[in-house]
Amino acid sequence: MKSTSLSSRRALLVLLLHALFTVVAAYKPLSEGFLRNITSGGADFDPNHGSLLAPILTPRVPGTAGHTAVQRHFIDFFDTQLPKWTMEWYNTTARTQRGNEVPIANLLFKREPPWTKHGQANWLTLAAHYDSKSLPKGFVGATDSAVPCALLMHVARSIDQYVTQMHVEMAELGEGGTVEMDMGVQILFLDGKESLDANEPAFYGSRALSETWEMTINPAGSKYPNALSQVSLFVLLDALGAANPTIPSYFLLTHWAYKNMASLEARLRKLKLLETTPPSPFLLETKGRITETTDDYVPFMNRGTPFLQLLPSPLPPTRHTMDDNGAHLDLPTVKDWAKIVTGFALEWLDMMEVWPE
Ligand SMILES: [Zn+2]
Repeated sequence: MKSTSLSSRRALLVLLLHALFTVVAAYKPLSEGFLRNITSGGADFDPNHGSLLAPILTPRVPGTAGHTAVQRHFIDFFDTQLPKWTMEWYNTTARTQRGNEVPIANLLFKREPPWTKHGQANWLTLAAHYDSKSLPKGFVGATDSAVPCALLMHVARSIDQYVTQMHVEMAELGEGGTVEMDMGVQILFLDGKESLDANEPAFYGSRALSETWEMTINPAGSKYPNALSQVSLFVLLDALGAANPTIPSYFLLTHWAYKNMASLEARLRKLKLLETTPPSPFLLETKGRITETTDDYVPFMNRGTPFLQLLPSPLPPTRHTMDDNGAHLDLPTVKDWAKIVTGFALEWLDMMEVWPE
């Protein structure tokens, strides 16, 4: 485990350097009226018929028809409901133990302020992996990570009108182009997290993407040296959807963002806008060191990206079993996550600016 602690220390150093050059976003809490206006997605998270979730609850191992169908589901959703979002593919390949090459495709959907030049926007990046484990056969991974993917779709459609409004108003006022305002948002569906034929996760997609972005050098004079440094916060949703989650704060440098999300959750709860009963999932304590769990944030963390990991500890009891299916989800918990993550994105993106109050 020596190499882990060495690479952790390198990551910490990179992060400290990164923090020196990063302007912290102007995070503004939403008003009570705005909080009341956030929707939970309701029936769209129904495991059997819900328009967001049900199509993802199928085995989706890279290279299979189920995997392609889920990609289609994301693309059709953005095409038909969110046409202002642009889409990018980040393709790579993985190799099975037998030597077969399998395509891996990260899907990115994003909205960038219309006034930002190449290399100028900073990105709130909300991510989850959409591939499923090849074992046990027929595994659908409801919490791992079908629900997180559906949550991200809901967040995108919930913030869409405000993003549009923000862009229109900024353009009218001629305010676009100041550093704090150059915030974009990206929804990232990562592929190839799971191994193709073993139990340990593989991180094919996140490793390839973080490397690609690191190597994508921005024009001279850009505020951000490369595409990766434009990620202002990498929020990773994983293993969500089971009842009674507890989410520790995994990372000291983003503990402030974790605390903001926790206080947002507390406000929603106090206003009786959540469906679950207490306690809150947020423990409000930091581990004060880089987590030892492994997930898709690791390749980004090692390259200096600040991350917030929404991963329960302990993991759901159905973890990596056939029981991680629609029947074992707790829908009130799922719908509460929909509100919490949506509210966090709105606060991060400073949407009180466009709320009519
Ligand atoms: Zn998994």
